[in-house]
Amino acid sequence: MTDSKGILYVVGIGPGAEAHATPAALKAIAEAQLVVGYTTYIKLVRHLLDGKDIVKTGMTEEIGRARAAIERARAGATVALISSGDAGVYGMAGLVFQVLQEIGWKRGDSPELRLIPGMTALNACASLVGAPLVHDFCSISLSDLLTPWSVIARRIEAAASADFVIGLYNPASGRRTRQIVDAQAIIRRYREASTPVALVKSAYRDMEQVVLTDLENCLDYEIGMLTTVLVGSSHTFIYEGYMVTPRGYTNKYSFDGTVLPGQRPGFSLVVPPTSEAD
Ligand code: SAH
Repeated sequence: MTDSKGILYVVGIGPGAEAHATPAALKAIAEAQLVVGYTTYIKLVRHLLDGKDIVKTGMTEEIGRARAAIERARAGATVALISSGDAGVYGMAGLVFQVLQEIGWKRGDSPELRLIPGMTALNACASLVGAPLVHDFCSISLSDLLTPWSVIARRIEAAASADFVIGLYNPASGRRTRQIVDAQAIIRRYREASTPVALVKSAYRDMEQVVLTDLENCLDYEIGMLTTVLVGSSHTFIYEGYMVTPRGYTNKYSFDGTVLPGQRPGFSLVVPPTSEAD
């Protein structure tokens, strides 16, 4: 190892178009001598890469990619390891820490770590369909490549029974088609057939596609590895082609701003014993 400390940027580049990457992410890429990432993401930022070293690899080579980035940065280079969306949301950030732990890296050692947040698919997809995430939501990845399906199914069941809006990442791929079918069946046990569902493919990329449907019919449409599925809660509604989950203001106020009888601003909502208020 050399004396000069390297820098490892772990960068989320957002969902696709450069307008949705942060200035900090673009600056990190600009500063890097080496940019490491999955081929598709490298393509998304290729116009920023003139004169830089590039390591691009396929989807299943994540460990090798993380190692390559860390080794070069450890030796003194400025490296940007890029993920789409946010690198800390089903991205490379976790693996970076596991590799660092494995090689015995300590804070203060080379490389210096700089984690740059990005807009995750959930934010991006939500903005294309309306305001589906305004109340409590959770995200679940349907990929059982690294997590047992029994664990994933239990989480879907818990989220469905607790009435979360659910964002499903990695819903399906060429080989993985059963998971979304099973997930729909589990959620359907707790939610109405008419529950709004959005299928957003390639948000803010060239092939962007948005379908607004419902829980009963959502499996009739194409769902693949570039799709995020948003399943509404029991309170989510469709208005003018938008998917909206209310925050609950109308439990306390009328639209002229007056406080409803029995309620007090700044204090816990008073809920009649039989109410299902959200
Ligand atoms: N780190 C990424 C997620 C990687 S997991 C992020 O924060 O967004 C890959 C999954 O993310 C895909 O299967 C899809 O469900 C979702 N995804 C990523 N980019 C997307 C986009 N532009 N549009 C829709 N879904 C996307």
